[in-house]
Formats: sequence, structure tokens, C-alpha cells
Amino acid sequence: MKEKQIRTRLAPSPTGPLHIGTARTGFFNWLFTRQNNGKFILRIEDTDIERSKPEFEKDIEENLKWLGLDWDEGSYRQSQRLDIYEKYLNQLLKEKKAYYCFCSKEQLEEDRQAMLAQGLSPKYSGRCRSISQEETDKKINRGEAAVIRFRVPETDLEFNDLIRGKVKFNTSLLGDIVIAKNLRAPLFNFAVVIDDHEMEITHVIRGEDHIPNTPKQIIIQRALGFEEPRYAHLPLILNPDKSKLSKRYLETSLNDYRERGYLPEAILNFIALIGWHPSDEKEIFSKEELINEFNLKKVQKAGAIFSVNKLDWLNSQ
Ligand code: GLU
Repeated sequence: MKEKQIRTRLAPSPTGPLHIGTARTGFFNWLFTRQNNGKFILRIEDTDIERSKPEFEKDIEENLKWLGLDWDEGSYRQSQRLDIYEKYLNQLLKEKKAYYCFCSKEQLEEDRQAMLAQGLSPKYSGRCRSISQEETDKKINRGEAAVIRFRVPETDLEFNDLIRGKVKFNTSLLGDIVIAKNLRAPLFNFAVVIDDHEMEITHVIRGEDHIPNTPKQIIIQRALGFEEPRYAHLPLILNPDKSKLSKRYLETSLNDYRERGYLPEAILNFIALIGWHPSDEKEIFSKEELINEFNLKKVQKAGAIFSVNKLDWLNSQ
């Protein structure tokens, strides 16, 4: 059988300028794709209408180009794909795998407090789970405020992470998650599943902060009968004191480094070494050498420290 072509994506949210962490995720995706003669896709995840800004989109694209990380398809914008999400939302609603929830904020908060008081970890109570179709239609026609929830099956779930090995999860902790504010307003976990499927993504390579989203995405994939992509969750980038990389310590946007005169070659060499270790002691790599030597499976699980001294040294070389 012919091997499927490898297809990866970088899926930044344009809520700020290109972050160093996103640049690393992009580079690891790019290296893996170029090694395997695959296709690398850029997808702008702008479902958060309030926080997404066109100037950040531009910044992200420009800086990726400056780094030389070319993409083969896209950039796609989620805001231009609402018809696609709507189609799948309707399918889930029709198959009763999703339902309209009319609970008010106050109601949700009251239920949450009640669960906490009983020593339970809070999740959606399921209050609107069994509202009839007729009743739902009436409420919708009356214009009652509603969101769309996914009926989460309670099950043990496991996925094989290329970096971390087996990751296990029990979905009974989740409760029925909200997947859209309405048919034209999908939320993050749902839109990602639809796009990864429609774009035929074979490998999802992203930061470990997304691990909690993966089980949610897998159960939605299963409900829609989609094939599961392979996953690789990259280690967090840490400040020298081992806290999560933040603006308080270090500059986090690529622009800051670019403006201070760092070269794209030095930045790429540097970010390749945040979490990945070559087999020998070599530290200076060209992009071509990295395409040959980078190995996703050798990326470490533990958080990786960001050292400006090392970047300075690489830049001087
Ligand atoms: N849009 C998400 C982010 O910027 C990435 C989603 C993903 O890679 O699955 O963090």
C-alpha cells in the first residue's frame, strides 16, 4: 500500500505577534514535513473574534517568511470557513451527538457551587441533555440564548504521543463541553477537529499546553467518524528559573529578537535546540543540516529552558 503523504499544520491564533514558542512549533513542523516530503499548512485560528487582529496575522506571516519557514498551503482563515463548521454542527445535532443548552450563567454557577460543596470536581450537570426536539425548536424560535454542547461519552481513552508515548485519560471528568456559541460561532476544539480532518492533517505537532484538548478533540473525531491524526506534544519553553516562558522575564515575541539584530539562521538554530538534542555534541547547524538530523522522536518530554546567552553565542557564530 502506498504510504499516505505527510501533512502538518501550524495553527496560530492571531491574538498577538509571533511568539517564540509558536516559531519553534512551526519550525519543528516544518523540519518534520520537509524531511518527509510532506505538505506544511498555515492555518490562522481566528475564531476568537474579539482578540484576533489582522495586524497580528500579518506579523505572524511576515515573521515566518523572515525565518524562511515557507508553507505549501494556506494561509487558511477559520473565519472564512464557517459554512464548513455549520455543516458538521448540524450533523452532530441531527444525530443527537450534540444538543442546545439554554442554561444561564447564574444557573451554571449555582450547579458548579453545588458540586464543589459535595466535594465533586465541577463539570456541566447535564441539565439540558434531554430537552426534546420540539421544546428545543420552540426555545430557539423564541430567540432564547443558547450554546451547543457535545454529548461527551464517558470512557477511558488513550492516544500514542510520538514524544510522550501512551497518554491516558478518562473523559468522565469533562462533562458535556460547549463546541459552539451558535451555528456560525464554533469554538476552538471543534474547529480544530473539523479543519484537521478537512485539511487531511496526518500529524498534529503542537505545544504540550494542548494535551488537555487532545481527548476532547479525539471524542469529537470519533463521533464524526474521522480518522485520528498522530500527535506529538512539544515540551514547554521555560524561563531560566523554570517558570513558563513569560514576558516578565524575557522577550517572547520574535520581533524583539529581530529588531535587536539577531539573524534568522541563529534564531532557527537556537529554537531547534530548545527541547531537541542532536546525537553528538554539535551545536551549529544550518537549516539543511537540521532537515537531515532533526528527529521528532528525540525531542525531550521535560520543559526546555530558554537561554539568551546561548542565542547570543549562536548569533556571534
Ligand atoms: N490555535 C492554537 C494556538 O495558537 C493552536 C491549536 C493547535 O495547534 O491545535 O495555541
